[in-house]
Amino acid sequence: MDAILKLCMVYTESTTYTVLGQGTMTDLAIRAEGLRKRYRAGKRSKQALDGFTLHVPAGTVHGLLGPNGAGKTTAVRTLATLLRHDAGRAEVCGWDVARQPDQVRARIGLTGQYAAVDEQLSGRQNLVLFGRLARLGAKAAARRADELLEQFGLTEAAGRTAGQYSGGMRRRLDLAASMIRRPRLLFLDEPTTGLDPRSRNQVWDAVRSLVAAGTTVLLTTQYLEEADQLADRISVLDAGRVVAEGTAEELKARIGGDRIEVVARHAAELDAVAAIVAEACGVVPETDPVERRVGAVVADRVAALIEVVTRLNAAGLAVADIGVRQPTLDEAFLHLTGHGAPREAVA
Ligand code: ATP
Repeated sequence: MDAILKLCMVYTESTTYTVLGQGTMTDLAIRAEGLRKRYRAGKRSKQALDGFTLHVPAGTVHGLLGPNGAGKTTAVRTLATLLRHDAGRAEVCGWDVARQPDQVRARIGLTGQYAAVDEQLSGRQNLVLFGRLARLGAKAAARRADELLEQFGLTEAAGRTAGQYSGGMRRRLDLAASMIRRPRLLFLDEPTTGLDPRSRNQVWDAVRSLVAAGTTVLLTTQYLEEADQLADRISVLDAGRVVAEGTAEELKARIGGDRIEVVARHAAELDAVAAIVAEACGVVPETDPVERRVGAVVADRVAALIEVVTRLNAAGLAVADIGVRQPTLDEAFLHLTGHGAPREAVA
């Protein structure tokens, strides 16, 4: 989602601000039921949404994960009123996205990986500009800019041109710009793509502060760790429909248990270690020759660990490492969709 869309959103928000509060009472920020959307280009067509259903309670962070082409962007654009669906129904903050788009736009913000800030202007000037575009008076825009600079930890850098900001600072400035009109629901499209770990943490803190203040967030991300860190619940999307939904822990539990992992000391001992894990756990383990690692899902972590250690000792086989851990969200994702993590870029 680019800067122009974002500016349109800010402008539209300002034109419809007076209808705030007249929506249907609901504690769901997003209610989408059976959305269908087919793209048609000449003879070719693609079913991008195929019965997409999503319920997001107000005040929560909901992660939308899926492999490339799963329909994440189409879902977000539909919910943000930028795209018209063919069938199904969606409400945002109690308003129908197809029939009441202005009311929806008055309540949402949109931000993504392409920072919509003007590099020639200072951080503060950028926010004042967004405030003025949103039809705030000069004083109100200046006041709101200062509040947001404070909230996003940018007060000290307020006078520097945005072109001198680090990637993380720009992304926080972009988030701040999306919050000018205090949207109830923020669509966050890959907010930390391309950022280093420190900047990523700063953006995560900024998102947490927004949520603490009551904003609902729909987060699409290519980093499963990001969803793990930020999202209360996660929907896994595949081929235009939600194939699994739950907390990160629930999704990990779908794999069916913890994992035992044993690292052999030498590549030559890998098969012997794998045979012992297979006997001890009663499953065929996965082996990774590069890492010399043998892994298997186990139902009872303590019993499995004792059994493997006992058998290794009996065989006189020392190992480099052994442990039991929960599955990662990445493994859950692979298990649920049969695809690697989105864009193969797990943080
Ligand atoms: P990514 O992670 O790669 O951004 P996504 O989950 O956001 O993918 P979408 O961009 O929503 O997926 O695309 C869903 C499907 O619809 C894909 O197969 C895509 O090729 C197709 N698609 C998206 N936009 C169009 C369009 N304008 N015209 C035709 N097909 C499209």
